[in-house]
Amino acid sequence: MFLARIRELRRRMHERSLDALLVSSLPNVRYLTGFSGSNGLLVLTPRQAMLVSDTRYAHQIGREVTVARGVISRRDLLEEAAGTLRRCRAVGFESQVLTHAQFRLLRRALGGCALVATTDLVEEIALVKDREELALIARAASISDSVFKEVLGEIRPGVRELDIASEISWLTRRLGADGDAFDVIVASGSHAALPHARASARRVRSGELVMLDFGARVNGYSSDLTRTVAVHRVPRRLKGVYRAVQEAQELAVAAAHAGMSARELDAVARRRLTKEGLGKYFIHSLGHGLGLRIHEAPRISPLSSETLRSGSVITIEPGVYIPGAGGVRIEDDVVLSAKGCRRLTTASRELMIV
Ligand code: ZN
Ligand code: ZN
Repeated sequence: MFLARIRELRRRMHERSLDALLVSSLPNVRYLTGFSGSNGLLVLTPRQAMLVSDTRYAHQIGREVTVARGVISRRDLLEEAAGTLRRCRAVGFESQVLTHAQFRLLRRALGGCALVATTDLVEEIALVKDREELALIARAASISDSVFKEVLGEIRPGVRELDIASEISWLTRRLGADGDAFDVIVASGSHAALPHARASARRVRSGELVMLDFGARVNGYSSDLTRTVAVHRVPRRLKGVYRAVQEAQELAVAAAHAGMSARELDAVARRRLTKEGLGKYFIHSLGHGLGLRIHEAPRISPLSSETLRSGSVITIEPGVYIPGAGGVRIEDDVVLSAKGCRRLTTASRELMIV
């Protein structure tokens, strides 16, 4: 599968008349070669693939990488890579990743050749997941489903958000993941009105909603799941908000399919919440792509210009955040096809009362 990805990338390099490409984004290096270390650079030419890394990774490259020749360097990786590219005419680089200082270093080292800024060359290939990737994301999703079921028993009045977050992280590893996909969010009561609140020392109280947003990482691939639960009886207004978010999410999942515009999918959920008078509280986009990165293309927002592709994995996560009162978000990961979409996360979406 790595070979197929590299072949496709070479085809795209050829279309752009590049005789070399420097891949410096680590998730992209991993996507193309399988290398999971924290320092590496891939140099790709029509005939060669070279993975440059430092001495810490000599053994790991031997174990993980079969599609590229490993080069272990004691110098700056970019200098090492540049040394092999002096005869090239046009060298592409990833313009959203390379820093200005690195660009200047390259320009100095490769005075005679053109440096060509590229955007999303690898990302566009990674947009459509292959069978192996889908299996890993599905595994991560099913771990998160199980974590949700198990952590419900830990949520009760008096427990700190941080303790619930630790429990989620611990369960995620115990149930087979390599770790959390991102910092676990546990937000209770008025704290849940902040869409990206971090878990804090705040104690959960009776009559509140608690929002849990977490994910598992399996072989680099992530899941991303949000559920909101009620602690004992919550006010009728919050129950109404929950129902509206749940309906908006169901409508969006039912509508999602390849070929549809990402903006239109966002609008499906947004229209519903607006009809309930809650549109102004839905302050983020409906979802995002998911893979080796927790947030990747496509973006499902009112501003997107993308068309959804078959084989992409996206999240569908409408939310309503009412300052002072609380928040509700329900998030699932789905894989798109021409006919519709299939949920990878399947934890119950009914309002759970703990
Ligand atoms: Zn999330
Ligand atoms: Zn998300």
